Formats: sequence, structure tokens, C-alpha cells
Amino acid sequence: MKKIKGSCLCGVVSFEVTNTFEKLFLCSCDQCRQITGSAFASNLFVGIKGFDWLNGIDDIIKYQVPGRDISKSFCRVCGAGVPWANGNGTKMIVPAGSLNEPVNVVERIRIFASEQPIWASELEQTPAHAEFPDLS
Ligand SMILES: [Zn+2]
Ligand SMILES: [Zn+2]
Repeated sequence: MKKIKGSCLCGVVSFEVTNTFEKLFLCSCDQCRQITGSAFASNLFVGIKGFDWLNGIDDIIKYQVPGRDISKSFCRVCGAGVPWANGNGTKMIVPAGSLNEPVNVVERIRIFASEQPIWASELEQTPAHAEFPDLS
């Protein structure tokens, strides 16, 4: 099965994973908002057998959210989010933005939409610019 590569921003941490993801979870829960500093987390789930670290496993720092099966794993050099194992170690949760090649996703699902911050609502109606606009 075809694998694709992913990494942190600085490249110290890298991995490869089978490129077949049944679901992409876009999670707007309060924990994901704070973990990402953004409106939602974009996570892919993959069976542990389909995932391999390539480099940098000793440079990963992991924070476990108390009382929940949510973690934040990140590169200690650049701070970018990297994959982590779920609580029982059967799956890897892969931040979609850490993948460096086109991702094969079957279905996208939004979860915890009830906790979405008000500033992230109705993004479809927000003006879009191809690059950073001239705001002067
Ligand atoms: Zn890094
Ligand atoms: Zn969440």
C-alpha cells in the first residue's frame, strides 16, 4: 500500500504512513482550540501498523490532557504538531497539516461543532485572498 511522508516544520521529526484514511475529523472542541491555537484540529486516524517513524522520535514532547484521551505531541525544536498514539495504542492520530504529500481522505466530518468559537463561524462567507492582502 502506498505510503506518504509527513514531518514537523523544521524537519527534525518525520514519519511515513499508509495513504488511506477513511475519515478526517475536524474537531472544534475547547481542548483542540487551545492545542492548535486555531478554530479546529484536523486529525486523521490510522491503524498503528500503517505508521512508521523515520526520524526525530527523541525530539517529541507529549502533553496528555488530564481526564481525556487527547494529547498534544510536538517537535521540541519548532513546536509543530506531530502524530501521537491513542490511549490504548491501537491507532495513531495524525495532524493532517503535518503530511507533505496529497492525502487520500474518503470522508470529512466536523465534531464538537457546538464548541466552535464564534470567530470561526460562517467561514464560507469570509472574504478570501490568494495571498496576504494590502491592508493599508
Ligand atoms: Zn521541528
Ligand atoms: Zn477536539
